[in-house]
Amino acid sequence: MIPNELKFLRVFESYTSIQGEGAHSGLPCHFIRTGVCDIRCTWCDTPQALASGEFWSKEKILASIPGWVHLVQITGGEPLIQKSSVIELATVLAGEPFRKKVLLETGGHRSLEGLPESVHIVMDIKLPASGEDHHPFEKNFQFLKPTDEIKFVIKDRLDFDRAVGWIRTHNLEFVCELLLSPVWGAVKLDDLVSWTLQESIDARIQTQLHKIIWGADAVGV
Ligand code: SF4
Repeated sequence: MIPNELKFLRVFESYTSIQGEGAHSGLPCHFIRTGVCDIRCTWCDTPQALASGEFWSKEKILASIPGWVHLVQITGGEPLIQKSSVIELATVLAGEPFRKKVLLETGGHRSLEGLPESVHIVMDIKLPASGEDHHPFEKNFQFLKPTDEIKFVIKDRLDFDRAVGWIRTHNLEFVCELLLSPVWGAVKLDDLVSWTLQESIDARIQTQLHKIIWGADAVGV
């Protein structure tokens, strides 16, 4: 039997690379990818983490993070399945002696309530092509800071139109930063730019930098 202190967080992988998305794109970043997700997006690009991972102690996780990297992203899988450990880890990382900037990437279907102010949240709003657009994402808007990010992953024009609906209905341009992120290879970038400008949407169009560098199927980068 594994002692409780060693069952701190179920981790799929821990590695240093560059941040490929969002406001911190291009910066060196250490990724803690938690294991297990409780939903199944059709276009998920980390299927290997959906049902696996091993328990790591807090000490093992902290020892895996290089001192020189300022940015640490807790991602998944779905990190908020293990919310209390994620909050504890984020709090430790933000404090002395680590002083890390912590990003948390979540599918948006689990509550953000109680996350430390220091955590930079990147939450998805799932769109029809994901097959997971039925969750009450709007319940989380009250927990977002202006500097946090909502990411819409867009596979087709219907997805784009639904993202516009979310943005207009909830005035999301005034809630936090917005990302329009095409499913790799599914949407032409110039189409996405045209649609965004035609609809006067004040959001950042992003591509996944790590896939440009290492290819769509590379893992652990
Ligand atoms: S929420 Fe993230 S990890 Fe879970 S299925 Fe969707 S894309 Fe994959």
